[in-house]
Amino acid sequence: MNKEFLDFRSDTVTKPTPGMLDAMMSAKVGDDVFGEDETVHNLETKMAATFHMEEGLFCPSGTMTNQIGIKCFTNPMDEVICDQTAHVYRYEIGGIAFHSAASVRLLYGKRGILTPELIEPEINEDNIHYPNSSLVVLENTVNKGGGACYTLGQIAPIHHLCNVKGLKLHLDGARIFNALVATGDKAAEYGKYFDGISVCLSKGLGAPVGSVLLGSRQTIAKARKIRKAFGGGMRQAGFLAAAGIYALDHHVERLQQDHDHAKELSVALARTSYVKSIMPVETNIVIFEVAAGTAQKIVDQFKEKGLHCNTTSASTIRLVTHLDLTPEMIDRAIDIILHL
Ligand SMILES: *Cc1c(COP(=O)(O)O)cnc(C)c1O
Repeated sequence: MNKEFLDFRSDTVTKPTPGMLDAMMSAKVGDDVFGEDETVHNLETKMAATFHMEEGLFCPSGTMTNQIGIKCFTNPMDEVICDQTAHVYRYEIGGIAFHSAASVRLLYGKRGILTPELIEPEINEDNIHYPNSSLVVLENTVNKGGGACYTLGQIAPIHHLCNVKGLKLHLDGARIFNALVATGDKAAEYGKYFDGISVCLSKGLGAPVGSVLLGSRQTIAKARKIRKAFGGGMRQAGFLAAAGIYALDHHVERLQQDHDHAKELSVALARTSYVKSIMPVETNIVIFEVAAGTAQKIVDQFKEKGLHCNTTSASTIRLVTHLDLTPEMIDRAIDIILHL
């Protein structure tokens, strides 16, 4: 038991809890492509209500909810504006080009956080040579930014700019609940700022599969057709949606514990001589810097002692906390960090 490894690679590695499994096994299901799965319907409705959006669409992954959102909000030859670290750009296999035939304008935010001042000069004016800037994508929290958060106070002026310039605004909210817990902002306030929101159930919330895309009735009607075209129309998906409903009811407030654990890890890392710097810890992600070229070596040494994590570059390492890491496991990890 004591020898099971400590898995800090990602918050996607969690397994369903007994309570979640019970909820899944007793879900009422039907054919969701026929619109007959009441549990999927309940998840979509519940998530939409949480963020004050009109409707939701349950999809197999956050990549799919992002890519469907982007396709809903662009036409071929348009341009999408996002930070250079954005998941939609870096980790979705060039899907913006593949699915939406759109180009991407990359910005350089501080830890991935964009501002109206960064965005405005990059919006193309109407000119025969230029792609039409039609969409801004924000990520909250920013994965590559070490879990950095936007507050609604930062989002409101970006929304205002998009509104004035006629651009849509999409949120990659893979870890939006971490941001909500960290900032104290209200989920219900989000609906008025975004045209689309993608929320992952399989990250910090601890469900095995799935994401929900939120938008207006019209957007979700279009998104539902695109999901079918992507091959994402699922049948008795209520077994999976039930895990999402359970997660919304039981796994949101506890995210604070993951954030506290991440802070504890960063305090321990700061006491070592092999760590050069640590990004400020705001949520459940810790990214720290070691001597150039040694990140993989340190990850290998951690692994030898039973702590699994990944590099994010030749000199940076990422640790992610989640609900399968108990306080006792965090203590063991700190011991490994301090005595590497
Ligand atoms: C994980 C993640 C996604 C979606 O990933 P899937 O593995 O496709 O569910 C999207 N954006 C960010 C920032 C993520 O971390």
